[in-house]
Amino acid sequence: MAVPSDKFYEAEIIERRDFSHDLWAVRIRPGGELKFAPGQYATFGVVEDNKVIERPYSIVSSPYEDTLEFFFELVPEGELTPRLHKLKSGERLVMRKVAKGRFTLDTQSGHKNHFLVATVTGLAPYVSMVRTAQRDWKEGKFPAQHHLYILQGASRSWELGYREEMEGHAKEVPWLTYIPTISRPWEDKEWKGEVGRCEDILRKYSDQFGLAPGNTTAYLCGHPEMIEKAKGILQRRGFLKESLREEQYWVQK
Ligand SMILES: Cc1cc2nc3c(=O)[nH]c(=O)nc-3n(C[C@H](O)[C@H](O)[C@H](O)COP(=O)(O)OP(=O)(O)OC[C@H]3O[C@@H](n4cnc5c(N)ncnc54)[C@H](O)[C@@H]3O)c2cc1C
Repeated sequence: MAVPSDKFYEAEIIERRDFSHDLWAVRIRPGGELKFAPGQYATFGVVEDNKVIERPYSIVSSPYEDTLEFFFELVPEGELTPRLHKLKSGERLVMRKVAKGRFTLDTQSGHKNHFLVATVTGLAPYVSMVRTAQRDWKEGKFPAQHHLYILQGASRSWELGYREEMEGHAKEVPWLTYIPTISRPWEDKEWKGEVGRCEDILRKYSDQFGLAPGNTTAYLCGHPEMIEKAKGILQRRGFLKESLREEQYWVQK
């Protein structure tokens, strides 16, 4: 099948990093310019039997970087991820030329606090936001008094991809707080950090940091069940629809 070149780039995987047996990251040379804002997603996949099998993926990298980075979770019964999981450096993909999405940082409401909640790969858009803010901050362009509070949940600590990077940024800059949490501590005896699902500890941190409806925009990304529950908790805390942003990665059966 000739993939229409007005719609797709021929992209190349140039690096791969595995976090666990079912979580990995790749760096991709898109094969042309892909304009995007931190928080947006790209759509790509593989060509097989004359059809494109494609899915949306949040972009991990910052627009300041030359290549794109993505963070995947293998869905064993899925159509695309088992195919992506086999791909190594040097192999090719087809990528739509346009990035999309509205899951970007709120710069309109005047809220100075950003409460960013993610399950596992749902951290991807926040990594892009942090990498971008990091560079802006070094150049004196990061808006004063804004603070990003990131809560990332996983079952076990080795599923917290990008934890080290986030902890590194949080040590370096005054505007970032990063809280990793695991929900199955009995399977991860060495873990000394926070425990519980994101939605279990959300309220505690929103109270502790004073993340209130009048000063905070909340972002929920990843697992549909987390989003549903977290949204309910935040709404009962007084958050209005316009202060809640969500990026649901799949639909619960
Ligand atoms: C805007 C957006 C951004 C996304 N960004 C990312 C990202 O950065 N990283 C990433 O890994 N995924 C991301 N996803 C999910 C991604 O698009 C695919 O849905 C996912 O990779 C599964 O694709 P698949 O073809 O293997 O499975 P499919 O054949 O599409 O799905 C098979 C079944 O598994 C369910 N399912 C899909 N994903 C999961 C999952 N993770 N866990 C459990 N069940 C699941 C589906 O609902 C379906 O029932 C994003 C989705 C959206 C909408």
